[in-house]
Amino acid sequence: GRQLGNYQLTRLLGEGAFAQVYLGEHIYLSTQAAIKVLKTQTENYPVDLFYTEARNIARLVHPNIVRVLDFGVDSNTPFLVLDYAPNGTLRQRYVPGTVLPLSTIVSYIKQIAEALQYAHDDKLVHRDIKPENILLGRRNEVLLSDFGIALMVQTMQYQNLQDVAGTLPYMAPEQIQGQPRPASDQYSLGIIAYEWLSGRRPFQGSMTEMISQHLAVAPPSLRSIIPAITPDVEHVVMTALEKDPGQRFGSVRAFAVALEQASQFSEQ
Ligand code: ADP
Ligand code: MG
Ligand code: MG
Repeated sequence: GRQLGNYQLTRLLGEGAFAQVYLGEHIYLSTQAAIKVLKTQTENYPVDLFYTEARNIARLVHPNIVRVLDFGVDSNTPFLVLDYAPNGTLRQRYVPGTVLPLSTIVSYIKQIAEALQYAHDDKLVHRDIKPENILLGRRNEVLLSDFGIALMVQTMQYQNLQDVAGTLPYMAPEQIQGQPRPASDQYSLGIIAYEWLSGRRPFQGSMTEMISQHLAVAPPSLRSIIPAITPDVEHVVMTALEKDPGQRFGSVRAFAVALEQASQFSEQ
């Protein structure tokens, strides 16, 4: 098989729009790691951005953010070495359409929100929050991953990056309009909560249909899909999904706290 640096690549763990991630085994230590390599050079993802991704995620040391072990270049191929998440992603764990118990949703949302709050406090917007980018660790703890298009809010240096395709179902209206901010990650997390509560995403259809719905259509009421939902839980999720980022919760942590409080008065 292929070898990169000190790692023998054993199998493909998954791939996204820009990268493939392999399970690697260290040739001297026999330890396992996830090795992320770019697919053949895409115009949309210059190799410079991969170095920025590596530095961004390496700086973030948090129990709910995947840990960077190393970065290397082998025969002109840069590769990122990450802690291996043996339980895969939240997308692999729950097929689309799965409805989760409210207590499980609250537990996941709290952990993702803690990771995001930590990044936001560091002035970093993730911009690609979706179940494919959320890993599960050894004890099924949440590990936020894929800071590939994360953005320093002061510089806005990658504002023109067109990475919308896989992410559009989760994308905030202001991000669609090229104005991402921390509240955009809160909106994406709100879409995930909506999806796990009801088994469906609020906005569906073609790219253009989804864009116009994110921009101007209220999400279908959760009560119409799941009659058992309490008004408090519905209100919290709908607040995270406000079109105007100023009308959402003041922080992603405040969203998670409100959801937990609302859930305590729910029978579900
Ligand atoms: P892209 O930037 O192309 O979206 P990702 O970093 O999201 O690439 O990785 C693509 C896929 O590889 C993920 O959706 C997941 O299935 C898998 N993967 C990524 N990192 C890990 C890891 N540390 N452990 C296990 N699987 C991983
Ligand atoms: Mg990804
Ligand atoms: Mg990515």
